[in-house]
Amino acid sequence: MNTYEMSISRLQAAKEHLAGGVASSLRASMKPTPLYAESAKGAHIRDVDGNEYIDYLLAYGPLILGHAHDGLTENVIQAMRNGYTFGLQHDGEIKLANLLAEVLPCAEKVALSGSGTEAVMLALRLSRAFTGKTKIVRFHGHYHGWSDSIFTSFPSSDMSQKASTGEAAKIPPGTFGQSENSLEDIIILPWNDPKALEETLRKHCHEIAAVITEPVMCNSGCIQPLPGYLEQMRKLTEELHIVMIMDEVITGFRLSLGGAHGRFGILPDLVIIGKAMGGGIAISAVAGKAEIMKLVDDGKVSHLGTLNGNCVSTAAAIATITQLSANNGAVYNQMEELFVELAEGIRLLLGKHRIPGIVNQIGPVFHMMFTDALEVNDFDTFNKRDSAKYTHFAELMLEEGVLLRPNGLWYISTAHQKSDIEATLHAIDRALIHL
Ligand code: PMP
Repeated sequence: MNTYEMSISRLQAAKEHLAGGVASSLRASMKPTPLYAESAKGAHIRDVDGNEYIDYLLAYGPLILGHAHDGLTENVIQAMRNGYTFGLQHDGEIKLANLLAEVLPCAEKVALSGSGTEAVMLALRLSRAFTGKTKIVRFHGHYHGWSDSIFTSFPSSDMSQKASTGEAAKIPPGTFGQSENSLEDIIILPWNDPKALEETLRKHCHEIAAVITEPVMCNSGCIQPLPGYLEQMRKLTEELHIVMIMDEVITGFRLSLGGAHGRFGILPDLVIIGKAMGGGIAISAVAGKAEIMKLVDDGKVSHLGTLNGNCVSTAAAIATITQLSANNGAVYNQMEELFVELAEGIRLLLGKHRIPGIVNQIGPVFHMMFTDALEVNDFDTFNKRDSAKYTHFAELMLEEGVLLRPNGLWYISTAHQKSDIEATLHAIDRALIHL
């Protein structure tokens, strides 16, 4: 039996001066307790109680090269010896911008920020400035960071049905402290619903500045777009002078070197990348069409941030992208093969233990859930999953030496080996007995 005493007492100590005891609210939900890390390398992490885990949480996505990657660490240290941040321009910014323009199909120009949330803010601002319109269409079950202008609790499908018929529906704020009015410019729609999209965009095109979408609904079940859906979105937005924003904070540098838009062959106007881009060091970007990004060149749209483009973050992103690009991005096939094996293995084990569940996978990311549904292709079905059972499963998996995100989303890194996958399947086999 693992013990978590040190983590529990650290959390008590942290609560004295650290708000919430954790640095990001979501982390408080881990059971039996938020864990304190001691050290990590590659695909493995150790907590302060000495428990060791194969890591599929991967810091909620960024660690695409695994923990403490030698090449990335070297690059960052080398950059730091020369200064961490200048508030002046430096060659790392040019090198990174050129690299992004080379690997991301949509990137004619890029702007660098520190987090996904900030990059979303810039993309929305650019869209409004470019079109002269104010409303933003977003989708039920997607997440675009925690800024007041877009953060919602996941509303009921009833609300999105109303919105899809053009009826105004007041969207509830996502948190106490968020102004009741902050979401007035948001129209929320069900995703993967071509009819709702077309009707709403045509009806409200005179006031809609942008449609923002995750290309795969990674934040709610790793649900893929219906064939033709993103293409339809591209066509309609083009026709109606609406900016199409793909939020690739999860999928960027994960689904392929060119993100989801590269993998699917769709060119949105703006793409937001974060997480995996820096391999675990804070950096994000908006990449997109020059005619829109030009608003920053002209000084019409303000893009600010004291630490934007700092030497540590640019060195980390350059190192990460260089590693991922080696041998024509061969690591993507390697990660995908391992994750297909793992997802397939989990499905077999669920069958063996007669536990109804689904694994929705695309490349190096999947969502595992316990549900009676035969497939999970929409947000409502996703919402009916047994999330308490999954949280319990994630807790059992800790005992078996596997660290999972409590909500069911799994990530893999280039550091994971076949032996990790095999050990994980054995661990799942043991854990499912107790479920
Ligand atoms: N967009 C998406 C699709 C995300 O998944 C996230 C974070 N999970 C964000 C934006 C916000 O990114 P950050 O946490 O870096 O602010």
